[in-house]
Amino acid sequence: MKLTDLNLADQRVLVRVDFNVPLDKNLQVSDMTRIEKALPTLNYILEQGGRLILLSHLGRPQKKKLENGELDVKKFTLQNIIPSLSKALDKEVSFADNIFGTKATSQSLALKNGEILLIENTRFHEQESKGDLEFASRLAALGDVYVNDAFGTAHRAHASTTTVAKFFPAHRKAAGLLLEKEIESAKSLTDSPKRPFVAIVGGAKVSDKIQLLYRLIEKVNKIIIGGGMAYTFIKAAGGKIGNSLCEDDYLDLANEIVQKAKEANVDLYLPLDSRCSKEFKDIEPVIYSSNDIPDDMMGLDVGPKSEEQFSKVLEGSKSILWNGPLGVFEFSNYSKGTFSMADAIAKATSNGAFSLIGGGDSVSAVNKSGLSQKVSHISTGGGAMLELLEGKVLPGIQALDIS
Ligand code: AMP
Repeated sequence: MKLTDLNLADQRVLVRVDFNVPLDKNLQVSDMTRIEKALPTLNYILEQGGRLILLSHLGRPQKKKLENGELDVKKFTLQNIIPSLSKALDKEVSFADNIFGTKATSQSLALKNGEILLIENTRFHEQESKGDLEFASRLAALGDVYVNDAFGTAHRAHASTTTVAKFFPAHRKAAGLLLEKEIESAKSLTDSPKRPFVAIVGGAKVSDKIQLLYRLIEKVNKIIIGGGMAYTFIKAAGGKIGNSLCEDDYLDLANEIVQKAKEANVDLYLPLDSRCSKEFKDIEPVIYSSNDIPDDMMGLDVGPKSEEQFSKVLEGSKSILWNGPLGVFEFSNYSKGTFSMADAIAKATSNGAFSLIGGGDSVSAVNKSGLSQKVSHISTGGGAMLELLEGKVLPGIQALDIS
């Protein structure tokens, strides 16, 4: 069901949010984005007269235990985020430090309409990542209704994201507003997208993006390949790439992708020129043709000719997907290609294209470019969005019985 179709008044609404936020040295929230993204759903439920019980993970406490083998509770407790959360919601937030035993359940039962209870980090328990049924049943006992708004973990079959939903009938569970928007945005590109449809795929490695590239060939009209991964393609085609990043095990596969694109009538664009450096450092670039890079140089960004060509490709496009930066945008000398892409996408969007930016680094690149308000949708889930676009059914979404 849709969140807006659920009966929420007087109900204990168990919401799986993504409060996996970065904390600074003083264990204070240093970036509020994820909390802010959850607010529309949380405020909606409160306005409808619901009682909020919030579930989330924070970091990887099982992997980062103390030397004595115990959990680093101080660092990973969700109590750390309460001041920021409470301020964002402009309400008091109470805390349940243990989901086992009856305390958390009785705390949830004691809530009044409009009140909020945050449950301790779900990953303090090994059963969370295993999707354990017994553990999920304890979580389910905390609520009358289940809402999942944690898109970033929707591709994981964990107890709080997937198994818990089994304990709620279809009319008592829903996607939160953020998750719903992510699903709708992905659908705009996977189900009958407006054409021409252009995909821009960048980032470090071909090996991370193979499934996506294969899937895109079936869907798009044009693919622009940039970033470190472009050099594997250029070398596979016989180009000289110097010291640029290259995955030699993937040369045949790169050629296969080029061949598949040809057969499917998909135009594939590789960078014509590159901004190059002798070292992996933020120093003044030298521009070379991308297939004629001297042995002692490496391509760290696409060059101005590529920028011009890629921007032309985007002109007149009606659907755009961008995943992965076109260069080492963290270095200001090698950020121009990535930022010019963000600019071209913003222009195409203002001319009526639907644009989706998915994947961690392209998201921070577009935020850094200052153009984040000028694209249609910036996804909050890197891996989850890629899997959705690859055509996979995400367990967290499937468990909601909505699609
Ligand atoms: P990914 O997580 O696969 O999207 O890769 C993102 C990373 O790729 C960023 O940290 C970029 O700095 C890096 N990257 C992009 N282009 C290059 C390049 N030409 N050489 C080396 N690293 C690159």
